[in-house]
Amino acid sequence: MKFPETGRAWDTLNAEMEAYAVGDIDWRRGRTPLYVFYATDEVYEVGRTAFMKYFTENALGSKRAFFSVARMEHEVVEMALDLLHGGDDATGHMTSGGSESIFLAVKTAREWFRATRRASASARLNMVLPHTAHPAFNKAAEAMDLEVRRVSTGADKRADVAAMAQAIDSCTFFVAGSAPCFPHGVIDPVANLGELAEERGTWLHVDACVGGYLIPFVARGWHELPAFDFTVRGVRSISADLHKYGFCPKPASTVFYRNTEDFERGVFDFIDWPNGRFTTPTLTGTRPAGAVAAAWAVMNYLGADGYTEIARELMATRDAYVRGLAQLDGFELVASPDLTIINFTMEDGDVFVVAEQLSEKGWLVGLTQQPKGLHLMLSMKHVQAREEYLGDLQQCAEHARNTGRDSNLSATY
Ligand SMILES: *Cc1c(COP(=O)(O)O)cnc(C)c1O
Repeated sequence: MKFPETGRAWDTLNAEMEAYAVGDIDWRRGRTPLYVFYATDEVYEVGRTAFMKYFTENALGSKRAFFSVARMEHEVVEMALDLLHGGDDATGHMTSGGSESIFLAVKTAREWFRATRRASASARLNMVLPHTAHPAFNKAAEAMDLEVRRVSTGADKRADVAAMAQAIDSCTFFVAGSAPCFPHGVIDPVANLGELAEERGTWLHVDACVGGYLIPFVARGWHELPAFDFTVRGVRSISADLHKYGFCPKPASTVFYRNTEDFERGVFDFIDWPNGRFTTPTLTGTRPAGAVAAAWAVMNYLGADGYTEIARELMATRDAYVRGLAQLDGFELVASPDLTIINFTMEDGDVFVVAEQLSEKGWLVGLTQQPKGLHLMLSMKHVQAREEYLGDLQQCAEHARNTGRDSNLSATY
């Protein structure tokens, strides 16, 4: 395609975009089992309006120009730390997403290990993770030339702490657990990981990208869940995505540190540049002030009551899906879900044939490869979609049993 010689009117472009979007998966009807996290129409409007209010400002300039943005980011971090039981010394900042939050936590932990520990400068450092940890840890490792040791989980799909202990050596600077892990939706035993980290002198990161803004409200409105945050002593850093169950517009995540000293270790600080000193805690330079304003607005709009109400409805919906699956014979949960991620397999047929059939009906199908399964990460758009989904699932399952064929689909995220 050539670069356009002359510009075109907005109306034309708008119509063209709408035509482009015709083939997209219909998230508004709950057809995407991930990517989109919807709370209510009101939350959507608040997030969108606040974002647009700060559409042009730049959060990179929040310290020198856009003081309101700095203030809102500070308040977002303080509110979140209240939720996650950060002590007086805890701090953090916003990022563009879970991947950036994880990257920065890994980098900060590496700086800490280099500064304070025994490993020689030439030693290749390693991280010990459950097999279920997000690929973002490997992305960080690839960029920073670190080794990743992924350790098989237990039968309940939670981190196997004893096996992880075996994988630690003198070059292990970092251990992580997920709250919950994305593949199976279960929360790793963070308290035990905390003990392990303290015993062995490693950093412990909790990847609460999914659960950081959900677990506290499920605990209030539904039932207690095991501690996953700074109440666990060994936890040094936490990643939590605002653009998942914080229901804030993308791109918005947070990374937190137990100690301000650690936070400061993570800040990029560079002086040898014609413009002078350049410091930023983020991997990105320019970043959207809109995302900061929107997060601030959504958190304050919902409040703990609003989030708790949504958490309760999501958990009730989770139970309704699980009951529906149980009634459909032949499906089996891979793990008993702690929150709102459901992963299930099929006992008497190839579940990927079911997936193919479902996608023909307009559903984007979340998959897992180990074991072969279907994957749902619920938001409020899945409340209405449930009966249709389960109905289609039943039809597709019957079809899969009758054809008896195998699928050559492979799971990609
Ligand atoms: C989504 C997710 C991430 C990565 O977050 P992005 O915002 O997509 O970069 C990390 N960990 C878990 C458990 C996730 O679900």
